[in-house]
Amino acid sequence: MILRARIVITMDGPPIDNGAVALSGNKVVDVGKFDEIKMRNGGEIVDVGERALLPGLINAHCHLDYTCLRGEIPAQKSFTDWIRAINAKKAKLSSKDYLTSIDEGFAEAKRFGTTTIANLTAFPDLIPQIEAPIRTWWFAELIDVRAPEHENEIVDRALESLQPAHNSGLAPHALFTASAESLQPAHNSGLAPHALFTASADLYRRCQEIAPQRNILLTTHLAESYEEMEMFHDASGPLYEFMKNIGRPMEDCGNETPLESFVGALGDRPIPQWIVAHLNELTERDLQLLERSKRQFHIVNCPRSHDYFKHSQFPFERLHSLGFNICLGTDSLASNEDLSLFAEMRAFQRREPAISPEKIVKMVTINPAMALHQEKMIGRIRPGFCADLIAVRCSERDNPFEQLVGFDGSIDWIMLNGKM
Ligand SMILES: [Zn+2]
Repeated sequence: MILRARIVITMDGPPIDNGAVALSGNKVVDVGKFDEIKMRNGGEIVDVGERALLPGLINAHCHLDYTCLRGEIPAQKSFTDWIRAINAKKAKLSSKDYLTSIDEGFAEAKRFGTTTIANLTAFPDLIPQIEAPIRTWWFAELIDVRAPEHENEIVDRALESLQPAHNSGLAPHALFTASAESLQPAHNSGLAPHALFTASADLYRRCQEIAPQRNILLTTHLAESYEEMEMFHDASGPLYEFMKNIGRPMEDCGNETPLESFVGALGDRPIPQWIVAHLNELTERDLQLLERSKRQFHIVNCPRSHDYFKHSQFPFERLHSLGFNICLGTDSLASNEDLSLFAEMRAFQRREPAISPEKIVKMVTINPAMALHQEKMIGRIRPGFCADLIAVRCSERDNPFEQLVGFDGSIDWIMLNGKM
């Protein structure tokens, strides 16, 4: 099949006017000018018209569990109050509510042109009951604040729920080969120790130890709020009091910043499996630590969730200049209004108007593909890559990347794994 469009934005070189993409099965086999592609390839021609054809978008941080909480929690003065509010809402939800919530979230993400999602779930046991309609990385969210010293058990149980047999047909191709001794790798899954205030350093270490053996990714929330900084650095504030009251051991507070605790817990090893969400609260000392340690991980900024909480300015320029791979995510609808990555790009652009639209589009295509270790499979239109494509109306007049960032609405043409 050949897809023709007014412009093809490959994210792999300059956009191609009157471009085309040739497909075979679920793979891209050729991309270029329509005339050339038509000469080199046979098959049915599908013209998507006056549109830009581009790789499907990748959401690097989401919690579909909470799709049903859209509009349910008004912005609170304090992050800790928001935690109280979401806990109260969660107490009223059943497994059936969560399944509906996840299904509706998937449908919404797809409607907004998302073809791959990194989704954290607090209920990995429900995964076998869900048919994910888009490429999905399931991260089992782990919390041991009420069960310390059970990290091995908690991790084993989560890994059991994440077995690849439970995943949909949209599993990405294995890029790594596990050694014969290691257990079955779960290529599109991972573990998510929730945050330093709810998951122990031992739990983080256990995840870090098992990730390379099981060939899985890791994600976490780090340095998200000022109250988290206060808790770890000063042993004070609302989050400190809240966690102390529920019985969390607080000896790790009063000295280090969240980033220092995270890096300290993981030691000196390289940490490319980590996708770290937020990092809004970094001190000058933290930034120097990142510069010195040369430790690289992937970072997700969630612009609209950030605005909802009124967090401190995300230090994009500093982190970018240190070479970190920075992606965008929506976070959950308990702190956002919808699952549109186009709206996230716009919110990011409002805060960082000097960053080019092209660079912003990379934050929902190439960059998250790299964070998921799938940079040779998704995020670009290139021969050999998965045929995950979307089409967005695009006029000749303006910069196509600016038009993509400005796109507001649902996608009416999408191809996933070669299927329209
Ligand atoms: Zn989150």
